[in-house]
Order: sequence, then C-alpha cells, then structure tokens
Amino acid sequence: MRKTLLDKYNEIENKIEIKNNNVISEWLSANKIPKYIYAVDGYKGITDRKITKISINKWLVLNKFKPAFKLRPTKLMLKHFENYESNYNSTLDHICFYYEYNNGNLGIISGCDNLKDIKLKNFKSLKKDELIPLLGKNILLYEPRDGFIQCQYCGKQRLPENIKKETIISRMYKGCVSNYRNYCKDTNCASHDQMGHEG
Ligand SMILES: [Zn+2]
Repeated sequence: MRKTLLDKYNEIENKIEIKNNNVISEWLSANKIPKYIYAVDGYKGITDRKITKISINKWLVLNKFKPAFKLRPTKLMLKHFENYESNYNSTLDHICFYYEYNNGNLGIISGCDNLKDIKLKNFKSLKKDELIPLLGKNILLYEPRDGFIQCQYCGKQRLPENIKKETIISRMYKGCVSNYRNYCKDTNCASHDQMGHEG
C-alpha cells in the first residue's frame, strides 16, 4: 500500500516520540519517579505541586514549534518536518513536569516546570528537605517582626538604623512625589525603586 503524506507525517512524529521516550527513560533510570515539585513560598512555607506527567518540552529543543498542518500535510510541509526531525535531539535539559495543585478559591491549577529550572537558585526542588534551610533564611530576612522595618523595595526586615527614608518621583503619585518610603540604607534599593517607577 502506498504511503500517504499523513502516514509519512506520523512516521516522523514517531521518530520524535522515540527520541523523547529514550531521554525520559534515561532520566528515570537514574532518578526516582518524582511525586511533587516543591517550592519555597517566601517566608510562609513550602508548597508542593503534584506531578501528573513527565514529558519533553519540545519547544526547548529547537526553540521553534513543530511544523503542523491544518487539514492535511503538504509535501513542502513534510520536507520542513523532516528537516525539523533530523535536527531534533532532545536531552535531559528538555525534560519538563506537568503538575496540578489546588489553589483554594481558584480551584485546580495546572502547569509545567522545566527540569532545568527546578533548582535551589530558583527556590525549587524535587526534594523537600533541600528547601528547608532556604525557607529558614527567608524567615530570618522577610518575616515581619517587632522592632524591624520592611524595605519597600527588597522586602527585607531591617533594624531602624539600617533604614533611610526617601521619596519617589512618579506621575502615579499626587503632585508627582510619593510619601516618604522606607529603604535599606546600605544598598541601592531606593534608586532601584525609583528606576522601577520610570519608563
Ligand atoms: Zn532593601
């Protein structure tokens, strides 16, 4: 039986799926099946998002969308797709996790996170334990407490002697100038906040 263009399209798609499945198998052979993506939520705690699917973020592989068709594939389109597939090499860096969590009022929220972004630097991990020290640091820096003043740019709790008062010039304020605001004295928080109000 002669292959139709659609058959050919499906064959190329299968090749891509095989590449993707190999990458996922490789990762799973070295790691336990992850159940949750954990993230530090400011100083309030650690959130968990239930992982529903391990997948490959196809966009990340070539930074472009897979050639797609509306009604049926054309020869030209198929050529593009072949070319796309021959350059398509998914790696561990392209793994992503689909997740779901309950956001109370908003109901069930779903999304996905790339494995390469699940890093302590981003306050995210697949292991809750790794985040506990980071949460501890955030509590020390940001949790409101008596005798401290919050910087209105970086949000840190500072002793009064480490705070300076500045105004911000911006059209968003009456008379184009804000009331006095609190900023860290020893950093550029005030000028950063001023820049944030411009442009
Ligand atoms: Zn600050």
